[in-house]
Amino acid sequence: MEKLLENIIESNRRYTVQGELASYIPELTKANKDALGIFITTLNGEEFYAGDNEIKFTIQSISKIISLIIAIMDNGKDYVFSKVGMEPTKDSFNSIIDLELNDLNKPLNPMINAGAIATVSMIRGKDKDEVFSRILEFTKKLCGNEDLKVNESVYISEKKTGSRNRALAYFMKSTSIIEKDVEEVLDVYFKQCSIEVTSKDLSKIALVFANEGVSPWSEERIMPKEVTRIIKTIMTTCGMYDASGEFAVNIGLPSKSGVGGGILAVAPGKMGIGIVGPALDEKGNSIAGVEVLKDLSHELELSIF
Ligand code: GLU
Repeated sequence: MEKLLENIIESNRRYTVQGELASYIPELTKANKDALGIFITTLNGEEFYAGDNEIKFTIQSISKIISLIIAIMDNGKDYVFSKVGMEPTKDSFNSIIDLELNDLNKPLNPMINAGAIATVSMIRGKDKDEVFSRILEFTKKLCGNEDLKVNESVYISEKKTGSRNRALAYFMKSTSIIEKDVEEVLDVYFKQCSIEVTSKDLSKIALVFANEGVSPWSEERIMPKEVTRIIKTIMTTCGMYDASGEFAVNIGLPSKSGVGGGILAVAPGKMGIGIVGPALDEKGNSIAGVEVLKDLSHELELSIF
């Protein structure tokens, strides 16, 4: 397995030069564009890795699945999906047009920025610090890593330059999708996107989904089975932005990517996969990371379809 992973990483490194770092968050341009790594944790407790699997990066959009879990556990699925839809989109992750033109009168799904910001607004807590601390503690539990922290420079960079996310959020306040103070909701959103992880952390989170919500190392049920079913479905249809359809055909694993270069992929009943590769394609997915997953899914026949 280790040999297979090394071969897959080395043969796909060439794609990194074709991608770009996310530059709309200035701090993300400091990442190493050539990096590519993978970490796999299996349900039998085995770990396999190759490439630059140890580098740290910010979780970005992958955090959207974590806030969705908490919002559903706080409010139930019917309430959450009364404010956020569950339809895929053909537009980009930060699309404004989707918000005004779709006839649902709510963001299309919880994986695009508008939907994720609305989801964060539904998480309970007496103030923004308590809401964020619930998200951070839950993330630590999901990956069994007590040391997770926010990358302060990325957080400040996002907060300073997040005009588009502000536009989305204020629009949703005007239509009553967001009921709380907009700046407080955004502050939590920027912070959750700036949590720093490794490919190992992502593989551990994915493993909890692969095990239907029970942590394989502590045997604690972290979320109801029904919630894992909802999240895996939303990841499959919407997790790779507007490339989710093609990704489902070529790879066939519930997955979520982030503009920090991470991809979390779930092979149900088998393994959790974490990828890092900060060079992105034009849709915002790790360009070489997608190729790595394509080869891996093919070699190990992992597609769920
Ligand atoms: N923090 C990023 C943003 O809001 C997340 C986007 C992403 O990873 O797709 O723009």
